[in-house]
Amino acid sequence: MIECIFCKILNKEIQSEIVYEDELVCAFKDINPTAPVHILVVPKPHIENLNAVQQQHKELIGHVFVVAKELAKKFGIDEKGYRIVVNCGADGGQTIDHLHFHLLGGRKFSWPAG
Ligand code: AMP
Ligand code: ZN
Repeated sequence: MIECIFCKILNKEIQSEIVYEDELVCAFKDINPTAPVHILVVPKPHIENLNAVQQQHKELIGHVFVVAKELAKKFGIDEKGYRIVVNCGADGGQTIDHLHFHLLGGRKFSWPAG
């Protein structure tokens, strides 16, 4: 856990551009954005990925989505639309093993995902 880069960001041991924080979550700009708006909404507890989510996390995960839609409004992408992505495991494209939700907007996305 000590080596987790997102835990280090949450502990302010690594600098990031934080756009929102409360007792449950922290949201900061992705260092390598793939869209004009690319924010990571990160639950504060170190949960490895979606596979590790338990019943006890229901309120936390619900809160993530409330924060995400508020950030979508704050960053002006709520009307045109946006995408929330959770990558899980190797095939899902997960590279950081601390659960996080990508809030992406400011351009049109294709579907189905490649
Ligand atoms: P994932 O591939 O779903 O695990 O997403 C990890 C994301 O974290 C990628 O989009 C990276 O660009 C982003 N990332 C990695 N290191 C940092 C950092 N220090 N600050 C902000 N975002 C980061
Ligand atoms: Zn962590």
